[in-house]
Amino acid sequence: MNLFYETKNIYENSAELPAIFQAAEGYMDFMTRCKTERACVAYFKKRAEERGFRPLEQGAQLKSGDKFYLVNRERSIFLGIMGKRPAAEGLHIAAAHIDSPRIDLKPCPLYESEGLALLKTHYYGGIKKYQWTTIPLALEGVVVLPDGKTVDIGNNGYTFCISELLIHLAHEQMEKTASKVIEGENLRVIAGSIPDAEADQDKVKATVLKILNEKYGVTEKDFISAELTLVPKFDPAELGFDKSLIGAYGQDDRICAYTAFEALMQTENPEKTALVALVDKEEIGSDGVSGMQSQFMELVFGRIAPGESLPELCYRSKCLSADVNAALDPLYPAPTESQNCCRLNHGPCITKYTGARGKSGTSDASAETMGYFTRLFDQNNIRWQTGLLGAVDAGGGGTVAKYMANRNIDTVDIGIGLLSMHAPFEIASKADVYETIRAFRAFLK
Ligand code: MN
Ligand code: MN
Repeated sequence: MNLFYETKNIYENSAELPAIFQAAEGYMDFMTRCKTERACVAYFKKRAEERGFRPLEQGAQLKSGDKFYLVNRERSIFLGIMGKRPAAEGLHIAAAHIDSPRIDLKPCPLYESEGLALLKTHYYGGIKKYQWTTIPLALEGVVVLPDGKTVDIGNNGYTFCISELLIHLAHEQMEKTASKVIEGENLRVIAGSIPDAEADQDKVKATVLKILNEKYGVTEKDFISAELTLVPKFDPAELGFDKSLIGAYGQDDRICAYTAFEALMQTENPEKTALVALVDKEEIGSDGVSGMQSQFMELVFGRIAPGESLPELCYRSKCLSADVNAALDPLYPAPTESQNCCRLNHGPCITKYTGARGKSGTSDASAETMGYFTRLFDQNNIRWQTGLLGAVDAGGGGTVAKYMANRNIDTVDIGIGLLSMHAPFEIASKADVYETIRAFRAFLK
């Protein structure tokens, strides 16, 4: 009997390398295609339909083994498979978020200054603003036109960039603290520079408006009824000589969304009804119609188990709140605590609590719930680890876990460790993607 708690580097078993690299291929393909919530929802819906999932209608009479999904406002999607046991006996839920930090356009974004057209923005989620200058950005999202039609202006091939002060003239700027080096109002992208000879004023702005009108039928007023966002314009990449790691934008939390989804796709006839909830707005507090606090979940429950009491259903359900965690970075060991933090390549990280200061803002899972999941993973030979989000008083954060737990669902955080979380290019491990799919399969089966 081993008296010590130890974790293993999954790559130590070289026989699994082909399977690990294969699992990563699917993930990287997803990350290449999906840089917004809408793109994620469309991707998951398409793949689910190919696997026989059908829209969850009101009054649906679902039988054991039936596969269903329901999209909420194009920004979140719940997918599931009816269990052999009645839904009233409780669901097994994996919840992850598909929104990521980014730069949104303001409702009146376009203006002209010193011969350049620029777009004003408002950042979304927690970012180090200086990381978002001088990198290529893509414009994604939709505009609703006066006739009510929605135009998708994503995948348009355009590239944008936020300029930055040259080092030669940055003497005063370099004395500022990091949070002030780039001000929020200076996160503005260049949108054009050719003047329109026919225009009387704002000639460069006029050229940009002409292009938008010719291509999409959009006028300046239509920016008000739009969701337009700037995301890093680079593809995921394999990192290192051994290609063991993945660099990509938006791995928080699409890496957990993808692994939970993939596990569900590999599930048939689960014991308990399996549900994967992929939601929006986590980075700004899980509020709004498409966030985890939305009553949309109750709507889904009602359609899965019509006539059943929702409080009873929640009381009998279990949830893995799937979100990324901070992996130990050899360059920045100080704000983590090495005995209670996760490491790349050591598998999914089970986290008893997140929060800040004196555990504020977390659901803090019970010993019984932690025991349930550690037992489940051990029985299924899942290589898992435990870890917290940083050392005591180093900072902190939260996940959707508390919104599930507040519904009286036994919930534990689980997720993949990242380096450079919330940066435009985050780092994760292929081995952790592989093992986390296995972990979700063990829970959902
Ligand atoms: Mn997250
Ligand atoms: Mn986050």
